[in-house]
Amino acid sequence: MIAADFALRNAGTLHTLAGPVPRTGPAMSVLGTHERAALAAHHGRIVWIGGDGAFDLAVQLEPNATVIDAGGAAVLPGFVDGHTHAVFAGDRDEEIRRRLAGASYAEIAAEGGGIVRTVGATREATLAELEAGLLARFDEMLLCGTTTAEVKSGYGLETEAELRQLEAISRADARHPLSTVSTFLGAHEVPVEHRDDRERYLRLLVDEMLPEVARRGLATFADVFCEKGVFSIEESRRLLTAARDLGFKLRVHADELCWTGGAELAAELGARSADHLVFVSEAGRRALAESGCAATLLPSACFYLRLPRYAPARDLIDDGVAVALGSDVNPGGGLSPSLPFAMTVACFAQGVSLEEAISAATINAAYSLDVADEVGSLEVGKRADLVVLRGPRLLDLLRVGVGAVSTVVKTGRVVVEDGHRAGAGARA
Ligand SMILES: [Zn+2]
Repeated sequence: MIAADFALRNAGTLHTLAGPVPRTGPAMSVLGTHERAALAAHHGRIVWIGGDGAFDLAVQLEPNATVIDAGGAAVLPGFVDGHTHAVFAGDRDEEIRRRLAGASYAEIAAEGGGIVRTVGATREATLAELEAGLLARFDEMLLCGTTTAEVKSGYGLETEAELRQLEAISRADARHPLSTVSTFLGAHEVPVEHRDDRERYLRLLVDEMLPEVARRGLATFADVFCEKGVFSIEESRRLLTAARDLGFKLRVHADELCWTGGAELAAELGARSADHLVFVSEAGRRALAESGCAATLLPSACFYLRLPRYAPARDLIDDGVAVALGSDVNPGGGLSPSLPFAMTVACFAQGVSLEEAISAATINAAYSLDVADEVGSLEVGKRADLVVLRGPRLLDLLRVGVGAVSTVVKTGRVVVEDGHRAGAGARA
């Protein structure tokens, strides 16, 4: 008998996502489904998965074990959000209204809006304020089924404020059930005070910020906004190479607003992920497939930024690229914390199937963050992070506004129950 302190019984379908990592091509449609299934965990890790009828013979529950009855509903791995800018202060309400009236992101940025606006508010915020904002956003994400998320700095653009953002991520991670992977994005934009001398800011990034973030161990990844008018390909190569030499893993904001060759650069440098890719080239798609660099797509960002097109998700999948999803939570263009919403846009605007979208928001997002040995699928030895839907139909995930997620379990503890955050004691 296997000892357990957590059990999930009576899953109508248990979609484990067990199998190849990352998922590419036709394998993205394979969810590893067990019918009438059960799962057991001990000390937060999965110890047994099998038919519900076999549970009593296989598993010995400890006294005071938590047992959930899924009532025949569908069960999935906890969602993994591959790309967020969730730590920030202030709002961009005026800019969002401008966009509704027809202004483009480039126009808004040229007028001093966009990232620069959030930088001003974030530099003024205290560590406690940044942490409180982040915890509130983590609650929203958890309610939508997200149990692991990447979070970037990038609204400080000066050493102290960038470190404060990363410190807020570290503190919120320790206090909240949602687990995080943190990314240093000091190269999110050239701050206003360095625009007369870009080289000065590049040197600050390479000589001061990156080494200090590495020394303090505050970020796993380093990222660059490689985009026309932000950081060029040559500047991005220089920054990413310096980061790699310091031991950072790499991810790249690539080809979002126009083609620059960001995807090709990400593949060349061995980045773990190239993100956005709205204007990725055919050569870029091939380079990503060959290098094993994930393509983290952010359909909600295209939707809210009113971009003229979406990333070619269908072509990327058909070319064998490991496509992942992120919410892109941020104050300007990332208004939804919900991965089911990102899946919905991916399905209806980008021609992705529901099964592919689920793979992208679980195991492939975990791969893109290099945490697929811990999360992203339900397998013995991995963390017991899972989502129970309200009913048996996976398609309910695409019914925006309904709230398809009923229960969320994080490392074997119920953190969302009947669509509500489980008791204050859950935030340990
Ligand atoms: Zn981003």
